[in-house]
Amino acid sequence: MSGTYPVLSGAAGSIAAYQDAIDQSTRAVVDWLQQPDMYRGKTVAELRERIQLAFNEEGLGNQAAIGRAVELFLNDSLSVHHPQCVAHLHCPSLVISQAAEVLINATNQSMDSWDQSPSATMLEIRLVEWLRERVGYSAGDAGVFTSGGTQSNLMGLMLARDAFFARQGHSVQQHGLGGSPAKIKVLCSGHAHFSVQKNMALMGLGYQSVIQVKCDRFSRMDMVDLADQLALAQARGEQVMAIVATAGTTDAGAIDPLADIAALAAEHQIWLHVDAAWGGALLLSEQYRHYLHGLELADSITLDFHKQFFQTISCGAFLLKDARHYELMRYQAAYLNSDFDAQQGVPNLVAKSLQTTRRFDALKLWMGLEALGSKQYGALIDHGVTLAQEVARFIDGCENLELIMQPQLASVLFRVHPPQWSTADVSLLNQQTGDALLASGRANVGVTQAGGVTCLKLTLLNPTVSLEDMKRLLASVEQTAQQVLNGA
Ligand SMILES: *Cc1c(COP(=O)(O)O)cnc(C)c1O
Repeated sequence: MSGTYPVLSGAAGSIAAYQDAIDQSTRAVVDWLQQPDMYRGKTVAELRERIQLAFNEEGLGNQAAIGRAVELFLNDSLSVHHPQCVAHLHCPSLVISQAAEVLINATNQSMDSWDQSPSATMLEIRLVEWLRERVGYSAGDAGVFTSGGTQSNLMGLMLARDAFFARQGHSVQQHGLGGSPAKIKVLCSGHAHFSVQKNMALMGLGYQSVIQVKCDRFSRMDMVDLADQLALAQARGEQVMAIVATAGTTDAGAIDPLADIAALAAEHQIWLHVDAAWGGALLLSEQYRHYLHGLELADSITLDFHKQFFQTISCGAFLLKDARHYELMRYQAAYLNSDFDAQQGVPNLVAKSLQTTRRFDALKLWMGLEALGSKQYGALIDHGVTLAQEVARFIDGCENLELIMQPQLASVLFRVHPPQWSTADVSLLNQQTGDALLASGRANVGVTQAGGVTCLKLTLLNPTVSLEDMKRLLASVEQTAQQVLNGA
């Protein structure tokens, strides 16, 4: 069947092949969901050996190809929904997000032009309007869905750079970097996401352009040091094109003092980009929305829906306060966004995106919002933040565990620390404990650094995880640390 109808269409044979392939795949997913392990624990060497492409002249047919994907990929995947899988900002996905993927994939709309995605373009515009309202921006539709935080941060930094040069009468789009690029700087905290560095390098300004501001003991940008660093840069004859504030640092979940930073940025006419890839989830929170106070003052914002909004990868957005700045990256392609179209009022989202062909990921958030409603969606997000506080209190009461920092979003930083142990030994113990837990397939906890010590991290995005689950996990952590100590 698949041999005769390889392409999805309205032909009866194609529809039958589609249904067979989807049924087989969803049945395999259902089986996989029910297997109890977080990970079946294959090593790098085993997977390198096992995983080989079987591409031949005849083809295996859909059924066999799906069977092999189940065996080679699905069964050795990490169960991101597993309650002991709490290492990263990597969420289990909403059921409705899965349904949205079926619609997105089958229709295969492309968001670059109206004639490739008419209804989808309109839905995405409506959603951007809604997100702006939620943030506290003026009404409008300046913003776009992206592949995630890295791309959204690139857009913010790129427009900040180009607006900076435009004020000096120079078009980067037309003429490339002008003046003395080595003197162009960005200020962000030492805990800002590494994509700030990567993006600055990509933009021709290099890692050297990133000045890292000190943080307070909760990993939040220190305002005194920010003002000092800005003054120092100016005294050296450097020009600061942007400040990047973070709302939800990757480890501590720290939210920089957004309103204070915005005031300083405004005073010096510096672009403020807020990376709210994680903390942006609080836009839907009832309990913790006020943590984002000042977000609306940013010139541009990164949001990520494949973090604590529980959407499948990928799904992110970029919001731009002043739509006029989109002119800086405008490019007209006769076949996608002609003047003629513009005069007719035809929206073509290609002008708002770095991508050309682009997935209709906005549908996932749209359907998530409609299916769950604000109360349930907000509760799912609040669960993790509240749970982190409860887990921290519990850790505080454990003799062999040490809480490193009070939680701010849904993460807990802690370490195994038997009272009589010296700090140097403790770092290695925690590293080995984290590694041994993953190797055992029992749990996936983060291993990271905080304040110069190696520690463990629980990222509690999963709304089905309970305090009991985390007590079990912490017991495994202690037990595993004991085994490491015993040299087992
Ligand atoms: C995850 C994250 C990013 C990167 O986003 P991707 O979607 O992985 O590209 C950027 N900034 C912060 C604060 C993040 O948590």
